[in-house]
Amino acid sequence: MTDALVLGGGLAGSASAILLAGAGKSVTLIERESGPHHKICGEFLSIQGRDHLEALGIDPVALGGTPIDMVELCSGARLVRSRLPFTALGLSRYRLDEVLLESADRSGVDVRRGIRVTSMDGHRVSTSAGGHEAGAILLATGKHRIRGDRTEADGGPDPFAGFKMHFRLPPSAHRAIAGTIRLILFDGGYAGLQPVEDGTANLCLVIRKDRLGELGGSWDAVMAMLRTLPHCGDLLRDAEPLMERPATIANLAYGIAPRPAMAEGLYPLGDRACMTASLTGDGMALALRSGFVAASCVAQGETVRDYHRRHAREVHGQVRRAMALQHIQETRLLRQAGIGLLAAFPGLLHHLAQATRLRRWS
Ligand SMILES: Cc1cc2nc3c(=O)[nH]c(=O)nc-3n(C[C@H](O)[C@H](O)[C@H](O)COP(=O)(O)OP(=O)(O)OC[C@H]3O[C@@H](n4cnc5c(N)ncnc54)[C@H](O)[C@@H]3O)c2cc1C
Repeated sequence: MTDALVLGGGLAGSASAILLAGAGKSVTLIERESGPHHKICGEFLSIQGRDHLEALGIDPVALGGTPIDMVELCSGARLVRSRLPFTALGLSRYRLDEVLLESADRSGVDVRRGIRVTSMDGHRVSTSAGGHEAGAILLATGKHRIRGDRTEADGGPDPFAGFKMHFRLPPSAHRAIAGTIRLILFDGGYAGLQPVEDGTANLCLVIRKDRLGELGGSWDAVMAMLRTLPHCGDLLRDAEPLMERPATIANLAYGIAPRPAMAEGLYPLGDRACMTASLTGDGMALALRSGFVAASCVAQGETVRDYHRRHAREVHGQVRRAMALQHIQETRLLRQAGIGLLAAFPGLLHHLAQATRLRRWS
């Protein structure tokens, strides 16, 4: 029996575990992966994400995060460019999540890896290596639902699939996206291409499952489609894939705002609590923020209801605005009108990037 049991060692889980251990609580964290692994993510770390990591004593620049201060939005032949209102970083989850878990271990968290949580029943949790009980359970398994999990974060339709691949781009393509996140909008989805650490690039995309089906359903078919697009095809033509296969996710639902948890002592964090549109690149900050809020509530003996109230207040506006943008992107006419407006007033892109952030952490 520990004070807190954290299920899942992604951003939300590790952040909450580090903070709770720092507050003198006994903490066990269970992560199903036994070593570093790739995750579906555009790996655009916003300034809010950076703030949270720095507050945990982690310097993402020292980890190799590459500065990104420009955003480019492409749709058909159009490309709109603007400076971001902050300097973000491109940093792989392969590296970042591992450093967070190491930091949790150093902070005194009992980190157990290679163990899968299989089900929950109130405060009892079953795993592939036995049972656990704790006063507080922090549910941070990302998009993965656990049997018996009553957080009710799911329920909406899940019409999207996601892919991610790291590439080494030819020098001219790498130069073209230096310091830049390029967002390529297409019918049924969008792709983000940006540099990450060690001179490599991340291509991450979200596509409607029906559109994916029309294309033939495979990664190769998606790449073939991307290679036909202006502002994208040239960059990818001679790109060397650096992962054996892309990271994929089949069922993505967006726009899940925090809902009151059903059980006392059970704190849903990160994507278990809410999922914002990934187009805006602020999900990591939201996940970290939920970890901070939950750790503070558990450490101070506040109820799950208090956590829900505080967390919802923090993230509701961001999710609402991000989902409005996603809606525009999904509707061809609105997308064309939007990009026309941005082409006429590129400074608006700067404001949109600002409006779809959490408040900064201080
Ligand atoms: C396509 C896409 C692109 C995105 N791009 C960006 C971006 O560019 N910038 C940004 O800020 N956000 C982005 N996001 C959002 C961001 O990736 C997520 O919001 C964030 O990773 C959520 O963190 P988390 O800690 O909740 O979950 P995760 O990071 O998913 O961590 C969950 C952890 O739980 C573990 N786990 C799962 N099930 C079990 C189990 N049964 N037992 C034990 N362990 C388990 C997993 O192995 C994992 O380590 C993107 C999301 C998507 C889908």
